[in-house]
Amino acid sequence: MVFSSPYPSLDIPQSNVLSYLFPRGEAVYDEPLWIDSRNPQHNLSPKDLLRWVKRLSLGLDRLELERGDVVMIYTPNHIFVPVAYLGIVGAGYVFSGANPAYTVSELVHQIQNTATKALLVHPNHVKTAVAAAAKADFPRDRIFQFSDIPNEVLGDIPDWRTFIGTEAEGESYQWPELRPEESKSTVATINYSSGTTGLPKGVCVSHANLIANVEQTVYMRYAHKPYPFGSRPQERWIGFLPLYHAYGQLYTMLMSVKLRVPIYIMTEFRYEEFLFNIGRYRITSLQVAPPILVMLSKRPETARYDLSSLKDCICGAAPLSKELQNECQRRFKIQINQGWGMTEVTCGALHVPGGIMDDNGSVGRLDPNCEARLVDDNGKDVDSGQPGELLVRGPNIMMRYWRNEAATKESLDEDGWLKTGDVAVCNDEGFFWIVDRKKELIKVNALQVAPAELEGILLENEHIADAAAVGITLNGEEFPRAYVVIHEASKGRVTPKDVQEWIKLRVAKHKFLTGGVVFVDEVPKLASGKIQRKTMRDWAKRDATEA
Ligand code: AMP
Repeated sequence: MVFSSPYPSLDIPQSNVLSYLFPRGEAVYDEPLWIDSRNPQHNLSPKDLLRWVKRLSLGLDRLELERGDVVMIYTPNHIFVPVAYLGIVGAGYVFSGANPAYTVSELVHQIQNTATKALLVHPNHVKTAVAAAAKADFPRDRIFQFSDIPNEVLGDIPDWRTFIGTEAEGESYQWPELRPEESKSTVATINYSSGTTGLPKGVCVSHANLIANVEQTVYMRYAHKPYPFGSRPQERWIGFLPLYHAYGQLYTMLMSVKLRVPIYIMTEFRYEEFLFNIGRYRITSLQVAPPILVMLSKRPETARYDLSSLKDCICGAAPLSKELQNECQRRFKIQINQGWGMTEVTCGALHVPGGIMDDNGSVGRLDPNCEARLVDDNGKDVDSGQPGELLVRGPNIMMRYWRNEAATKESLDEDGWLKTGDVAVCNDEGFFWIVDRKKELIKVNALQVAPAELEGILLENEHIADAAAVGITLNGEEFPRAYVVIHEASKGRVTPKDVQEWIKLRVAKHKFLTGGVVFVDEVPKLASGKIQRKTMRDWAKRDATEA
């Protein structure tokens, strides 16, 4: 059975995302929108943003990049990140963001995999970027410092403001228009996701995908409130979601402009500063992942801050228990609505509509223009009311994986259905619940950890003969755990702790083996040589109950 969105279809524009956000001939909003939460005088309005966007686009053109080339940023959040995002995408290049916690080897992989042509790096991360560039054979003269203030040359790395156009030149810059077909076929961003199996892969999202998902998400947010296009909701948001991830990109860099909602950008997430900012700026709405709700409910600091301005909260990116949802709804007198999404659907495809109070842990109804199916292991539709793997289809589904036809074929069928690897149920009113995950993915702090990546790195260790990584859930949180086979000759010479420490030197923090390392005699494999993922999940469940 095909489930259709219960909402009317939207007539979704198809153009350059910049033309969608800033229609030609329309006045551009000129009040602070991206505001530095530590120094609110330091801010950008959409008008300021557009000036910088045009200058950056000109600068990129002058680097003689070709349309479709990737420009990567490697920086924590700051108020100029939207300039890079929209400048790169609007000029017809492709934006890719690297996690600022990446190690040299992780960055090398993303530079090489995307074939990046220019790299914008926060001054604090220049050392890592330069080391990665050397390993990746990436030209040093294509690395530029990129922060929210002008920077002196560091070593031989100049500031991005040195290669962009002047303000006068920027005024006459025109970004390329895209016809509807081009809007669908032009890659705008490449974020990384492991999808249902294997290593992280670049997810190609088009201009049309981005526009569709803004329209759908705005619709769902205001489905039961006044529709805000053309007016301005009286909201204030806080921007701590990472801007290299689809969730942060959609809300902080696209929806904020469309809705003209000011957003106070935090460079790093510090819990007490977050609480303080909510009170200081009278924040009305949060976009969070479940770990933030865990902190709000459990940490004693919460009680010391004034959170009375909060009205609503979107929660997505990982499972949220209805108990926690309801506890927070009651305690903070706010409405917490879940959404379900995935990098491959641009950001989201299911939302509990704004204005509807949910106390049942639902991840929502299908966004307008989206369809879903629930299927068994053989791809057959399950009976009504039964759980099945969620397949989704709609204008927000990615174009393909970047330069990986095999993975694309495995995930997206010819009719446009995307396999999500999540197991869901649906009730008669079209509300969905995620009840299990059948893909390999581990989610730590709502960030992806691909078991295959950890396994590849573990196998580089001279003492390790074989390894399987899996998520273990303890007190509602997932942690990466490895079952490892040690070479005969190494037995007694290496401990699980050594393996944990060894991994720490090679990966970003969220991938550390905080769920433990266990030495085993064998990793269970199928005849094809593939790891029996289901057995690994069973082991982790068994070990979690014994912990
Ligand atoms: P990402 O591509 O990093 O956004 O991760 C997507 C995955 O996160 C999904 O396939 C789900 O496994 C998980 N996820 C996202 N939203 C939810 C949700 N509301 N409830 C449960 N899992 C979720």
